[in-house]
Amino acid sequence: MNSLKLLKEHDISITEFRILLLDELLKAKEPMCFDEFKTKANKTTFYRTMEQFLQKKIVHKVELDGKGYYQINKGNNALFICDICHHTQDLPLPKIDKVEVNSVLVKGVCKDCKGSE
Ligand SMILES: [Zn+2]
Repeated sequence: MNSLKLLKEHDISITEFRILLLDELLKAKEPMCFDEFKTKANKTTFYRTMEQFLQKKIVHKVELDGKGYYQINKGNNALFICDICHHTQDLPLPKIDKVEVNSVLVKGVCKDCKGSE
């Protein structure tokens, strides 16, 4: 998967900024918030771009402490996210009778953070 292909597949016009953002997200192992991106832009542009990626389902967004964290959408997924260090871990998607589950977010404290308390 590369950023250029993602943009083309989702009918989003290609700009250097969008490619840089997607490149960072594709490399990231964990969801990223505005402050964590090396690609700098003003907040308005950043959030507008992310909003577009969300609409096209290129990314997932999780809210944590009032901040939006973004991650590449790899299809239906379930995610555990640590409230303290924001470490994430993929979980198996739960099966719920007569319901189509698209995404699940489980919040808690990971074993590393739990151990140091
Ligand atoms: Zn943690």
